[in-house]
Amino acid sequence: MKIEIMTLFPEMCEAVLGESIVGRARKAGKIDVHCRQIRDYSTDKHRRVDDDPYGGGMGMVMQCQPIYDCYRAVCEELGTKPHTIYMSPKGKVFTQQRAAELAKMDDILIICGHYEGVDQRVIDRIVDEEISIGDYVLTGGELPAMVVTDCIARMCPGVLSADICFEEESIYGGLLEYPHYTRPEIWEGEGIPPVLLTGHHKNIAQWRHDESLRLTREKRPDLYEKYIKKSD
Ligand code: SAM
Repeated sequence: MKIEIMTLFPEMCEAVLGESIVGRARKAGKIDVHCRQIRDYSTDKHRRVDDDPYGGGMGMVMQCQPIYDCYRAVCEELGTKPHTIYMSPKGKVFTQQRAAELAKMDDILIICGHYEGVDQRVIDRIVDEEISIGDYVLTGGELPAMVVTDCIARMCPGVLSADICFEEESIYGGLLEYPHYTRPEIWEGEGIPPVLLTGHHKNIAQWRHDESLRLTREKRPDLYEKYIKKSD
């Protein structure tokens, strides 16, 4: 899986994607993530990438030319058209389900907007899908692109120690995950649920499932209803 990220702030993305599990996976060659500076593709002598909006109004708009030329360079290098995503608050809200589908693709290109966003004409020309990370507005697409990249990366084979690591987690199976405990057994007078000390795998699995149901019912009744309907 190759993920190309087009951004005005590649260092910001590298700082996040060079660390921890994703950073290690990149070094080990389990996933290939590459950040591109859109400004490098500007034909303007001052490397400008934005201009005033037609019709007036506040803020600047990212121009078509640098984005389109950057996109074409990626296509040429890959030898194919990547699935192209524009991070945008107007997009469909990102879900675990969509991450799982994207993790099966070979080549993904993510465009990070800035300022007021990107000229609609280049979006119409190259973008396959707009993704939002939630109903709020951030200053740029870099943090949303990191969220999407991290979530996709950890579902790619070999990135986590085993697929079960994400399959058992919150949301994936339709429920929130059960609570976790680790040493010491007593902390500030508080113990842990006794079943976890029994070594009885079946009982532990049952307790975890019951806790998942309880937590989902309490915290996310919307997910709980869906899960119950699906299991009927
Ligand atoms: N004027 C735009 C609007 O009202 O839809 C918002 C532009 S925002 C200030 C700048 C950039 O941040 C966007 O082009 C997009 O790439 C990114 N962005 C902001 N919020 C986002 C969100 N919730 N999900 C994904 N991307 C977001």
